[in-house]
Amino acid sequence: MAKHTCAICGAEVGLLSEQKLADGNYICRKVCSKKCLKIFDKVEATLDSVNSHIAQVEFGTKAWEQIFVPLTKTKVKEEKMKRFGKNGELYVSPSTGLVAITENRYKIFIFGKTTLACVYRLADLYGYDYESEEVKNSEGKTETKHFCILTFHNTPGMYQVRMEIRAGEFESMAKYFDTQFGIQKTLGNIRNTFKQQMDAAKAIAGAIGAIKDGTMDESKAAETVETLDAAQYGDRTEWIAKADAALATVQK
Ligand SMILES: [Zn+2]
Repeated sequence: MAKHTCAICGAEVGLLSEQKLADGNYICRKVCSKKCLKIFDKVEATLDSVNSHIAQVEFGTKAWEQIFVPLTKTKVKEEKMKRFGKNGELYVSPSTGLVAITENRYKIFIFGKTTLACVYRLADLYGYDYESEEVKNSEGKTETKHFCILTFHNTPGMYQVRMEIRAGEFESMAKYFDTQFGIQKTLGNIRNTFKQQMDAAKAIAGAIGAIKDGTMDESKAAETVETLDAAQYGDRTEWIAKADAALATVQK
């Protein structure tokens, strides 16, 4: 039997104690795999992405303990968090501009649990999509599982989160995020959306004019992209400032 070594801690691993990664590396199941959240797809991961994810969980767990745990007890209305997910594992904190995906680990024999977390800036959430899966339950009957796929930009480690949610929950999640970002899809708000689109169109027209007379520069191009992003994804400047201020307080 071929023996391998864990690419992170160097422990010797075998068929039952190893986890093979997509790039051919192995990591140990006993210690290093457990540093990843269960929803992190290790089979598709490379050693680099596993290392980034482990760093993300280490920092996220500290941010969870220092920022989110106190907020779970808040009596201030503006600081209340929103929870989503089949077991409420996703916490959204509008007052800090942060999002946490949590996983509880229960200790056998000892009463109590520990919580691991990945913490994201709400401003980096660029995609929320729905997916369903047909599965056979223990009685052989087909049932539908519901998932939400969250995609975060500017995020090393786990940047896409596939999380099980309750039936019908996706609509309220999407509506909640759209509202936070000021993305309006209802007819009642069409005027506002139209104004954002006009601003975007003007910026593009300006940029195209600049290309024609050869004065297009990088800052003009970046501005155009930002205006387009703001029209499609909402203006996130304030969300970024809030989140960065909160994250800067985390003691490592
Ligand atoms: Zn290891």
